[in-house]
Amino acid sequence: MFEVLVYHKIHNVINFERQIVFLKKKYTILNLDKFKENIRRNDDYNKPSLLLTFDDGDISFYKNAFPILKKHNVPAVIFVITDLINTNKPFWWDAIPYYNIDVDASKLVWDVKKVPNYRRIEILQELKNKSGKKDLEYPQLTYNQLEEMGKSGISIANHSHTHPIFDQCSNQELRYEMEFSIKVLKERNHYYDVFAYPNGNFSLESEEIIRDSGIKFAFLFDHKMKKNPINPLRISRLMVDDTTSLWKFKFILSGLHSKILPLRKKVAKWL
Ligand SMILES: [Zn+2]
Repeated sequence: MFEVLVYHKIHNVINFERQIVFLKKKYTILNLDKFKENIRRNDDYNKPSLLLTFDDGDISFYKNAFPILKKHNVPAVIFVITDLINTNKPFWWDAIPYYNIDVDASKLVWDVKKVPNYRRIEILQELKNKSGKKDLEYPQLTYNQLEEMGKSGISIANHSHTHPIFDQCSNQELRYEMEFSIKVLKERNHYYDVFAYPNGNFSLESEEIIRDSGIKFAFLFDHKMKKNPINPLRISRLMVDDTTSLWKFKFILSGLHSKILPLRKKVAKWL
């Protein structure tokens, strides 16, 4: 059996190292090549295996997670947003609370994820103009850092060009996202054909476009255990973060957490 974990930013270095030591003891941690091979052959092992993935390519991965993974010789995959590499552009969901001065920012980020992509871009521009603030800057990973990590067990894979919400994009926007992200990663010999849906938003139309663009493996953000047989374009992932305690980690990896979560959400609606 194997499962896939998904992280984002890594700040709690002490707890993250504790997690890695625990995972290494209990699981075989696969690198991306081995994982792809297993899926192709539909292999299942007695020893439980894991693939560790990190979405967005945040700089904290390089600063905090990479040294620990390297120290323990643990491979991982980072899904990067190609338009941000080598820039000081912020993630757009961080720009919203920075430029927004009127309303509840977290609600606004949530709302903006549900509007057509062209509107999301307009809203961001409107907020920026209205705020009068200077441009928000945020250091992103550089090509050199990606190359350095690529040589030390980290596979660099595709998280689109600008991280729009895929089920809110036109087909033309989706083709643009795939064309540019693939081009940038291919030029540098990274894993351009391994993709994670931005924000996890999946649609049948986007699946058709990513497949036509040449994507061979696509990851969801669904907090579910893997299903058999595996559809390589719909690989489930379990959500964790750098603060997850070891007991919760065990709970999540047992599969119980993802079963209980929808139930808890249903119950919460009644409260
Ligand atoms: Zn993302």
